[in-house]
Amino acid sequence: MNTLALQNLSYGMYVIGTTDGEKLTGCVVNTVVQAASAPALVTVSVNHKNLTNQCLKKHKLFSVSILSEAADSGVIGTFGFHSGRDTDKFATVPHSLTTSGMPVLNTGTCGWLECRVRDSFDLETHTMFIAEVLDAERLDGVPMTYSYYHRVIKGASPANAPTYVPQSAPVELPVSVAAPASAATWVCDVCEYVYDGEDGPFESLPDDWVCPICGVSKSQFSQK
Ligand code: FE
Repeated sequence: MNTLALQNLSYGMYVIGTTDGEKLTGCVVNTVVQAASAPALVTVSVNHKNLTNQCLKKHKLFSVSILSEAADSGVIGTFGFHSGRDTDKFATVPHSLTTSGMPVLNTGTCGWLECRVRDSFDLETHTMFIAEVLDAERLDGVPMTYSYYHRVIKGASPANAPTYVPQSAPVELPVSVAAPASAATWVCDVCEYVYDGEDGPFESLPDDWVCPICGVSKSQFSQK
């Protein structure tokens, strides 16, 4: 079986918003799919390890911010590479609340959904939630595909993503970030972002430079 075929499946990019008690929280997923039309139902898979998984099982309500190509990569880093257990993810991200109090991003989105969990199935690594769409809004913008995220933003998959491929596997880097054979390649230890040299040699970057995806410092990059 050639599991690389799975990398050719198409996805979008979404921020799930929900609540952990009084605190807002959420995570990035690429697994929102419309499953039925009347009523409109969607499915979304969330890793067992994610705080969002527990929150969806407990509170049943969540939002889906549909990321556009204008989405800030730092927002993807905040929601995709940090845990809501030790981060207040919405604290610095402009957002609004739906009528049910679910947080949706104010920028970098081309629409949002407000959903209520109807059923869920625990799979080996993820829970698949089936949810009814209670409200929705369409906004301007081009939806960000998972392929766009990899090719243009040069982001990687968090370890909890169903599509995660460990570094030891034969990951094919996007052509746009492939470095010359003689040049060192610097890769973020946290999110696997590959520095493309656009701000000059990695060694010359200022000390306050941070990973554009997950926000860690230069010291957390490794030469590959
Ligand atoms: Fe990073």
